[in-house]
Amino acid sequence: MEETIDQIHAKAISELDAAADIQAVTALSVKYLGRKGEVTRFLRNISRYRPEERAAIGKRANQVKQELERSFKDVAERLEHTGAAKKERIDVTLPGRPAGHGTLHPITRITEEICDIFSRLGFDIAEGPEVELDYYNFEALNIPKNHPARDMQDTFYISENIVLRTHTSPVQIRTMEKQPPPVRVIAPGKVYRCDSDLTHTPMFHQVEGLLVDEGISFGDLKGVLTTFVHQMFDPHTSLRFRPSFFPFTEPSAEVDILCVMCRGSGCRVCSNSGWLEILGSGMVHPALYENVGYDADKYTGFAFGMGVERIAMLKYGIDDIRKFFENDARFLRQF
Ligand SMILES: [Zn+2]
Repeated sequence: MEETIDQIHAKAISELDAAADIQAVTALSVKYLGRKGEVTRFLRNISRYRPEERAAIGKRANQVKQELERSFKDVAERLEHTGAAKKERIDVTLPGRPAGHGTLHPITRITEEICDIFSRLGFDIAEGPEVELDYYNFEALNIPKNHPARDMQDTFYISENIVLRTHTSPVQIRTMEKQPPPVRVIAPGKVYRCDSDLTHTPMFHQVEGLLVDEGISFGDLKGVLTTFVHQMFDPHTSLRFRPSFFPFTEPSAEVDILCVMCRGSGCRVCSNSGWLEILGSGMVHPALYENVGYDADKYTGFAFGMGVERIAMLKYGIDDIRKFFENDARFLRQF
């Protein structure tokens, strides 16, 4: 039985792979593509196929011919180059190969941007442990054991009283315990929840904010968060405050911005609502002041928390949160 053009092709490639020098490549080129070469002969004898098959087989044969021409040329060039390199001495005056510059991870970049904005508004940066006592993660935040709000978060428990913090809010308590008012801090950091899908990863980043002083009102909360949104996104971004519930704030509000993709007309990103939720906020619940020994009659304040990945996804138009953590350099280099 006669060889098909693809069999000839495969044979030629495997022989080419074994070619050790330019002479071998030249010989193979003659063997396959020369005047009496196998591919040339195959094309010349195309008439032995049935007329209706000829066009397709001829086309494939011509493709193979071109591919082989290219492969022979590439391999010959490579061999020529390495052969020449062996003879040459190393030129120490040649410039070095440039080392690739890394870029900041988009999450780092957004975290820094958030911190910069609040620093300009007079907030200090606070930090707290990621492995946290149940007390700080829940109890001191007005979420007692068996409180239904604990169902809202899937918690990684280390032991009965130690958890991986599920939010950055424990830093509120730790900060207030350490100092008397006025308090004005933001706390960026990693948080953990048993959750993984398009918009959730088991580890993600939050930035918490807390401001406590005499005479702080909901108006201050709105002013600070509006300023933040305008600096983070666009000075003309519309936002709205929607009543919500958190155990550690009262009243509580979720903040939405006008959808950055469709400008409010409704799209897939905003589930056709025209709005995107970006953070939770509210006036600090008086129970928290009791827990840290502040005078709840004298001081008021507000707190807020946002997901850094969420902000980054909206700002950069990314639809899958997991891309941030796959370490694909092609994705990360864009930022
Ligand atoms: Zn939209």
